[in-house]
Amino acid sequence: MSSPATMGAVSGGIEERIRAWEGQGVVCRYDRETDSWVFISLHRDTLGPFTGGTRMKSYPSLDEALEDGQRLAAGMTAKWAVLGMPYGGGKAVLAVPGPLEGGAREGLLRRYGRLVASLGGRFRTGEDMGTTPDDMCILAEETEFVHGFDRETGEKLDPSPYTARGVWAGIAAGCAEVFGSDDLDGRTVLIEGLGHVGWRLAEMLRESGAGLLVADIDGARCERAARELGATVVETAQVASAECDVYAPSAIGATVNRDTIPRLACRLIAGSANNQLAEPADADRLVERGIAYVPDYVINGGGAMSFGLMSNGEKDPETLRRRVEAIGDTVSELLREAAERGESPVAAANRRVERVLAASARAE
Ligand code: NAD
Repeated sequence: MSSPATMGAVSGGIEERIRAWEGQGVVCRYDRETDSWVFISLHRDTLGPFTGGTRMKSYPSLDEALEDGQRLAAGMTAKWAVLGMPYGGGKAVLAVPGPLEGGAREGLLRRYGRLVASLGGRFRTGEDMGTTPDDMCILAEETEFVHGFDRETGEKLDPSPYTARGVWAGIAAGCAEVFGSDDLDGRTVLIEGLGHVGWRLAEMLRESGAGLLVADIDGARCERAARELGATVVETAQVASAECDVYAPSAIGATVNRDTIPRLACRLIAGSANNQLAEPADADRLVERGIAYVPDYVINGGGAMSFGLMSNGEKDPETLRRRVEAIGDTVSELLREAAERGESPVAAANRRVERVLAASARAE
């Protein structure tokens, strides 16, 4: 992180980046008390208010902090559009000089919460990397525009079960396109990452009769999956070449790349991790290998979708379940469209985003 003394040199970079960005604008604030910077990147509000998580992180430079927020905000525009939700793409980055705890953390969050409140609902936010449900509770005391928090009960909500359900539905839909049946009984799914999403996904797949391969850097989680879910443990280094029907990346990004693609021994990639492809060209590499890839932003939106619905007053568990499982229908449509055109599902998904945005802009 740059110190204030070097900011003059850096500011040219961020000024240019803000001006050159295709999004609608960036709200910036310097927080003197914690020497942190706040960037709220507002990408496109064609479909509704700018909505996306709040990330707290230390970055090597301000330029990288801003770039991260802008990239994530654009990703949210695509995610909301493909999910058919009435929200626009936004993202907040709190670029902190180092780990913030206690009063300093709370102070930053409260001042940031008041900044969000001052935008009058044009930007709505929730938890993201580096922020916690407790942080959201603090924010919720300063602004009503926080997702993932039940105002009536004061309860913190966890998006992971909804995300897992959307991925599960997407895997079944993907299997229908690739193998001709959505029956998961007897399919082998490799789950990389047994965290909040991966563990619940493993349970759901197990209940559906799928055979599980699991990998996690945390050996205790793998042992538990072997014991409780009958999973076979795969070394993390062997994930790319492990034979399976479906590979579900559910830990870190960029595991699908020019090095791993030639070794992949699956027919379908469908998991919760963000940014699974290391670079855009990987989508075409997968087409060449005959591996169907469900774009991450299509399949991992169950948590965002349910929080969006809940913040609009939808609480019926059955409705939420139905809406999240409908992610499977979107996956089917996109895989079919891509197969018919001989293109990657990423291209089909991106085209759908443009279509949805254009239709909404025309309707205004
Ligand atoms: P988590 O932190 O709870 O779990 C991540 C798991 O991955 C942990 O068990 C960790 O030990 C393991 N892991 C880390 N590095 C690994 C590696 N190199 N190889 C194998 N395992 C590794 O995270 P989560 O909430 O379960 O989210 C998982 C992924 O899904 C993340 O990429 C996240 O951004 C994405 N995602 C999550 C949600 C959600 O609702 N939680 C929504 C959308 C996207």
